[in-house]
Amino acid sequence: MTQYKWFIPIESMFYEALYYYYIHNWGIEPMPSNVNTQKEALIRNGKNWPFRTHNTKARYTCHNCKKSWKSSHTTMIWRAHRETSIVQIRVEKQGCQRCNRKCQVSSIDEEELEIALDWMCIWILDIFYGVKNEDTNEDRDKPDETDESKAPHDSVRCEAGTKGTCRKCNELKKKHR
Ligand SMILES: [Zn+2]
Ligand SMILES: [Zn+2]
Repeated sequence: MTQYKWFIPIESMFYEALYYYYIHNWGIEPMPSNVNTQKEALIRNGKNWPFRTHNTKARYTCHNCKKSWKSSHTTMIWRAHRETSIVQIRVEKQGCQRCNRKCQVSSIDEEELEIALDWMCIWILDIFYGVKNEDTNEDRDKPDETDESKAPHDSVRCEAGTKGTCRKCNELKKKHR
């Protein structure tokens, strides 16, 4: 489970968030590695497993060369299954600019996790309980450009970008069309 270090704080925070939103009986786990998160595949399975993509900020550390970087355009994907009441979450990999290895996310700030889990609960309420949150403003989870990490987004090494789920990559593609 060491490869899922980023997941450890999520579990307890998830239950706190559920409690806050009065949602019961859901569990959360890292998405199994054999789940295809290409956008088309997610859409194809969307009937059984509705999904959502979320832009967050996270830190990556390369296991090979130890290079570390922070990305404001990190793609989180979660999907949920009503019958088993389970939410699966994945943070897509990014490539190391020094040695080109694909790297797993190493950590996500608590503040960012809180925002993500907030969105997750609002989403669960909407999708499975038909409860719309009127305060939901989609603009709020747009990629944040005013971040300390000034480096441009590395679309070539962004796994979510190649799968069509990275908001930043999709935005860049639109501009270049
Ligand atoms: Zn590296
Ligand atoms: Zn991207």
